[in-house]
This record gives sequence, structure tokens and C-alpha cells, in this order.
Amino acid sequence: MRNLFCPKCSERIFFEQGRCARCSQRLAFDPLLLVTRRLEEVKPCSNRDLIGCNWSADEKSRYCCSCALTRTIPNLGSTKNRLLWSRVEEAKRRLVYDLCRLKLPLKSEANQLSFDILSDDPEEGPIMTGHSAGLITLNLAEADDLERETRRVAFREPYRTLLGHFRHEVGHFCWDLLVAETQLRGPFRLIFGNESQSYENALKAYHERTDRSYDRAAFISEYASSHPWEDWAETFAHFLHIVSVLDSVAGLPLSLESRALETLRDPYLESDFSALLASWTPLAYSLNELNRSLGLGDAYPFQLSSVAIGKLHFIHMAIQNGCGISACGWRAAPVPVG
Ligand SMILES: [Zn+2]
Ligand SMILES: [Zn+2]
Ligand SMILES: [Zn+2]
Repeated sequence: MRNLFCPKCSERIFFEQGRCARCSQRLAFDPLLLVTRRLEEVKPCSNRDLIGCNWSADEKSRYCCSCALTRTIPNLGSTKNRLLWSRVEEAKRRLVYDLCRLKLPLKSEANQLSFDILSDDPEEGPIMTGHSAGLITLNLAEADDLERETRRVAFREPYRTLLGHFRHEVGHFCWDLLVAETQLRGPFRLIFGNESQSYENALKAYHERTDRSYDRAAFISEYASSHPWEDWAETFAHFLHIVSVLDSVAGLPLSLESRALETLRDPYLESDFSALLASWTPLAYSLNELNRSLGLGDAYPFQLSSVAIGKLHFIHMAIQNGCGISACGWRAAPVPVG
């Protein structure tokens, strides 16, 4: 994710933010210009109040170009469903941003990319997350942290996120777009295998496997070993993870000038609190931005208010004050008491 700044006070902001934490300016991301603008200067997406979509709408639409792709929304009879749906759309905006940065279209000659976000219905059975001819279906339960983590453990996956689901499913859409009817079909088969083998049978066999070992040298994940299409989709998702994180790294405020390097020599004993804070603030932002690029939660999910900073400063002062006391007792490593 490229650097985004508050247009009013220039504070660094996250892609998901609808308001500047420093000056309270209301913000909207403009998906055409890829910048954050003042809300009053744009037409907000109609989903802003409902689910906190922070994108601006197209001239001709009530919705932003991401929300407009959602064909079916979940039942909003419960506040929980609304919260879960808002998480889904938040992850989806990162996906649409990816496609936009890759300059990939949202429709092919045959298919239009669209989304059904559905919750399980006791009468109609469970919703399967998947892709079919441009339509991506996502089970709303994947936005529930407890549910998703339970499934991750049950399926023995090292990684399972909403953004990961979307990057995988859009991989199928992109296969249709980039490989299916092109001269890449032959090379695809050489590398990924022949995709004309029955997809249904391959997935059935995959789910019936009791031996969960797979050729780690050949596949990026266990699921990738189920069928050439899944191998492509898994690998496509990893490609998006990699470019997205690298894009974040490129924008990180980590240019370490000499004063910051001095702090990093021994942060524990940095005597200047403001230098310590000046090193921490961009780093905390960077850690979070890297996590968000992978669809994970913030590594440091806190916003330090000026009051909290004052208290930290006091603690720093107290420690500095006590340094003389401890200095005489410490050897190389702390000795456990008792
Ligand atoms: Zn601001
Ligand atoms: Zn929207
Ligand atoms: Zn798939």
C-alpha cells in the first residue's frame, strides 16, 4: 500500500481510515486517483453510514467501485451480520485496490467480477466459499474471528484471512481472463498440470485424503496440490501477498537518519524520550501496515493519545531516575530472585 496522508494535516493514515486520528478531518479514499481526499470534496459511497465504506462513489453510481461489485449482501437482521459484512467489504477494498494497481479489468469478455456475501441458512445448508464464472461467493462466517480460526485449525492451514480468500478466489477469475483462451494455456499445463481432469473428482479426493502430507517442493500449500486450478489460485494469492507487502515496505517511513540510528543502538537506555517516540511512531505504523497488507490484524493495535504519551514520558523519566540505583546491582543478565 502506497503512503496515504490526511489532506488537511498531512498525518500518515491507513487505507481503512475514514477520519484522521490527529485532526478529525473526515476522509474518503478516491479509487480513481488512489489518494485520500476530504470527504466534503467527494461523493461518498452510499455504504459509508451502513458499514463504514470509506471510498468515494463514481459519478454515475450510488456506490464506490468496490461496493458496486457486491451482487448479494447478507441478511442484515442482526447487528452482528452488519459488523461481519463491514469486515468483508474492508478486505474486498484491498483486493479491488490490488487489481487496480495491477491494471487488471473487473470484467472479461465473458464474465463480470461480482460478489455474493452470504450467511449459512439452516434450511439451505452451508454456504461454500468459491468462484464460478466471475461470481465470488463468500461465507459471511469467515469474517467471524472465532469461526475462521476454528476452520483454520480444522483444515490445518497456517494462514486463513478474508483477504487471503478474496485473493485466492479472484485468482480463478484471473485464470479465465489471463490463461484460458490464450497462448498461455499450453505453458500453464506444463507447469501446473492438465486442468481438464475432473475438478469435482479432484476436490472430492482431496477432502477424503487422510494422509495430509504433500510435496512441499512442488506446491505452495497443501490445497494447491488438489487440482491445477487450485494450484494457480493459491499461487496467484501469494503473488498478491508479496507485491502488496513489498508495496507497503516501499512506502514505510523507515528512513533511519543518524539520530534514529543512535536511538536504536540501545533503545532501553535512550535518554531522550522524544527521540524514542520519534523512532517508535513510524515503526508501529509500519508493523501494522505490513500486517494489513497480508489481511492480518494490527501488530500494535493502539493509538497513543497525548495523555498516554505523557504517561509514557513519566515512566521513562522514572526509569531514568532509577537507573543509578539499578546500575550498581546488575551483572550481565538479571539474576532470578529466590
Ligand atoms: Zn489530519
Ligand atoms: Zn463502498
Ligand atoms: Zn479455489
